[in-house]
Amino acid sequence: MRTVTVSESGICAAYEVYAFGAGEPHITFTAGVHGNEVSGIYVAQQLIGYFQKNPPLRGTVKIIPTVNATAMRCMQRRSPFDKEDLNRIFPGNEAGSLSHRLAASVYAETADAEILVDLHCCGQHGMPYILSIYNESEAARGLVERITMPVAVHSEGTPGQLFTESCRKRGQAACIIELPSGAGSGAVNLPVANQCYEALLDLLRTEGVVAGNIQGEAPRFYGPLKDTDAPKAGLWRPQVEKGMRVERGQCIGTVEEAAVYTPESGLVMNIVPCGYIFADDLWVMTYVQPAQ
Ligand SMILES: [Zn+2]
Repeated sequence: MRTVTVSESGICAAYEVYAFGAGEPHITFTAGVHGNEVSGIYVAQQLIGYFQKNPPLRGTVKIIPTVNATAMRCMQRRSPFDKEDLNRIFPGNEAGSLSHRLAASVYAETADAEILVDLHCCGQHGMPYILSIYNESEAARGLVERITMPVAVHSEGTPGQLFTESCRKRGQAACIIELPSGAGSGAVNLPVANQCYEALLDLLRTEGVVAGNIQGEAPRFYGPLKDTDAPKAGLWRPQVEKGMRVERGQCIGTVEEAAVYTPESGLVMNIVPCGYIFADDLWVMTYVQPAQ
């Protein structure tokens, strides 16, 4: 393990890099780009534990388990120093504020990866999914097909993210995996984290890095995430659960006794639990539709 440090005006940000094996392929895992997304950090640490006991059969595995360590210590998404969202400013800037310098350093540290998987979290009530620009990048599609989690979602491709920049500017096979968090700040969703860990071992098996047969199944491909808003504020009571298929026009819950209908058929990825919603945020459900 080595520690990489970047600094600006006397303030430092440091991250640890674990590397196992040698030669090609080069496979890199990053986590903790958003400091409060700890289910991803947990998975990265499990992979480090695995390779400390079982060195790669071939190739190089590099793992950066906590990219944004200061944000992680504050258990918040953004840097406590300059308030930047690290996953909007790649490829970074060596002369910028601390987060921009950190982004530039991590971008350089991941430059040699043929495969780059960035582990994130999608809130407590969501389904896990792989996020990629698979329609834009054949390399990304080829990667996602080999990660044995059930759902692969197409990203809107917002620039400045580590995976979008890596796909577009460097031709790398890159994606994000979004994992639900546990209940409460700093909590890990263990069942989902373990499912992701197993899926990443499957990915590594396809490259001959890890021994054994593929355990899981290839994902189903879906289009981008779509949101459903309630028509008004008030007490929301859901009538569907995440992971369910809903049909167009189906009642998905009620607000103040008024039914809320889904505008399209799809797979429920995230549903707001029973509680009060307000006029500035009427979102109650996120869903996806199978890819064409
Ligand atoms: Zn994130």
